[in-house]
Amino acid sequence: MTIAATRQPALRNAYDVEAVRRDFPILATKAHGKPLVFLDSGASAQKPRQVIETVREVYEKGYANIHRGVYQLSQVATERFEAVRGKVAKFLNAASAEEIVFTRNATEAINLVAQSYGRTFFKEGDEVVVSEMEHHANIVPWQMLETQIGIKVRVAPIDDAGELIVEKFEALLGPRTKLVAITHCSNVLGTVTPAAEIARLAHAKGIPVLFDGSQAVVHLAADVRAIDADFYVFTGHKLYGPSGTGVLYGKKALLAKMPPYQGGGDMIAHVSFAGTTFREPPHRFEAGTPAIAEVIGLGAAIDYVESVGRARIAEWEHELRDYATARLSEIPGLTIYGTSKSKAAIVSFALDCAHPHDIGTILDMEGVAIRAGHHCAEPLMDRLAVPATARASFAMYNTPAEADALVRALRKVREMFA
Ligand SMILES: *Cc1c(COP(=O)(O)O)cnc(C)c1O
Repeated sequence: MTIAATRQPALRNAYDVEAVRRDFPILATKAHGKPLVFLDSGASAQKPRQVIETVREVYEKGYANIHRGVYQLSQVATERFEAVRGKVAKFLNAASAEEIVFTRNATEAINLVAQSYGRTFFKEGDEVVVSEMEHHANIVPWQMLETQIGIKVRVAPIDDAGELIVEKFEALLGPRTKLVAITHCSNVLGTVTPAAEIARLAHAKGIPVLFDGSQAVVHLAADVRAIDADFYVFTGHKLYGPSGTGVLYGKKALLAKMPPYQGGGDMIAHVSFAGTTFREPPHRFEAGTPAIAEVIGLGAAIDYVESVGRARIAEWEHELRDYATARLSEIPGLTIYGTSKSKAAIVSFALDCAHPHDIGTILDMEGVAIRAGHHCAEPLMDRLAVPATARASFAMYNTPAEADALVRALRKVREMFA
């Protein structure tokens, strides 16, 4: 039975959402005395007990700095940290763990590519092609290269449904294009971009492609080899893992020709005042002490997601998306932004009677946490011709009853303002 068929808070046989919810302690808490309805996982997801306990267990029983210790505690911490590299490689279907670089977040991963790959291989007049629906993290690092070396950021447009206009994207690819940097899933519109096609078109002209997978890894089974990504980035805290963890995937041949992004400890082979040599990738790109317990916690998050099953999570979220979209559409004066056929469970909307910030504040009093604002995508707001939107983003632990709570609270907003 499906959610849409029953219009009830439903437990599907294949997906025990209540069991999932029991793993997330925060979901049992209240906001303003009401049961918490958390619909802002697109900004940062809540953490399952398995992640929380792993991080705590590392600090209580297995913590030491990694890579340099001669004693057992350090060696065990190093092994556990490095095991996550292999786990991430498998999660993304990368060819090897050496293609996985740990960063602080997706933002740092993109800055790494811009400052290492971009500053080495781009020159004045070269172009980077992004899309109109990028997060600031996939715009500003390239704009910095406009200032630093005189490249130009070109913008591929989207249509009114929020889909990349592939022909116009292709028309932007020329001899000056040195990189395509495009989201795999929009954090505002939910649009899942045709990544394999984007890469095929770019590769036909010899152009490498970076995908921002910050949302995609949460909602679909991203496979870097199936889409033939050259670079792929994501951020741990949206994948139910600790903050302070991020990933850059880079094809081995590309990482091998990139210079370090930051200098310091752990990334060097030998240091002397006569000259310093660097380690091989990925370590060359990991200067300084990383987020040790948190990266191990990211491994626990990946284990958790895989134990529930990525295909089953995606199926559940699609039902939530369809159910929430149908219920929201019944509210008079409500506009939904992003109607792509290929869409994750992220629903941006506006009401004709109230500003998104007022919506967010009133919903909060009802215990419903949503996002209101530009979602770090101001150019997209310009394209939509709105200052801001409200956004409900659904995760593996959300329920149709929570979509109902959102709709009830929005009807209250209408009563107050309309
Ligand atoms: C959240 C997000 C980012 C940035 O993630 P950080 O953890 O802040 O680095 C980049 N792109 C998209 C699409 C996002 O949703």
